[in-house]
Amino acid sequence: MCGIVGYVGDKEATPILVNALKKLEYRGYDSAGIAVLSDESLVVRKAKGALKFLERLIATEIIRGTMGIGHTRWATHGEPSDVNSHPHTDVAGKIAVVHNGIIENHAKLKEWLSSRGVTFRSQTDTEVIAHLIDFHYDDGDIVKAVIETLKRLEGSYALAVICESEPDRIVAVRKDSPLVVGSG
Ligand code: GLU
Repeated sequence: MCGIVGYVGDKEATPILVNALKKLEYRGYDSAGIAVLSDESLVVRKAKGALKFLERLIATEIIRGTMGIGHTRWATHGEPSDVNSHPHTDVAGKIAVVHNGIIENHAKLKEWLSSRGVTFRSQTDTEVIAHLIDFHYDDGDIVKAVIETLKRLEGSYALAVICESEPDRIVAVRKDSPLVVGSG
């Protein structure tokens, strides 16, 4: 289990994401994290342990931005740690992903990506998704890049994906994991 959340709108995303993670905290106490598009760059903050450690981490900074994603983790691949916390990003930190589920063919995908020069930071199954999206993000269409990536994933997932160069757009997809979209 894990809890994922995303917000895009005209309000400050950070407090909305943290509040939403409070509601989803029961889904995983191993770590919590957020990625917010702030001044055209992704700001990623994550911390091992319960949500309160993330709250402490960001207590003294103001992360402005009206789009972001968040995660509360129940680890399946990779121990609970700061580095294994979600969101995970591509090498350049321009694409961020949160994931609920298990990517069963992650080892094979990791090998393939490593042979193309990708250096992995975490031990999670999830990180392959961020790198694959980057690999398919050749013509600047994040939806297309996610669709191409999904063709290569085996397992279960609910994903929320944001990309630095596509503000106002969260890509959310699911297979065998729950996901709810609200508009208001
Ligand atoms: N498999 C991912 C991880 O371990 C997500 C965990 C989950 O959904 O429980 O980081």
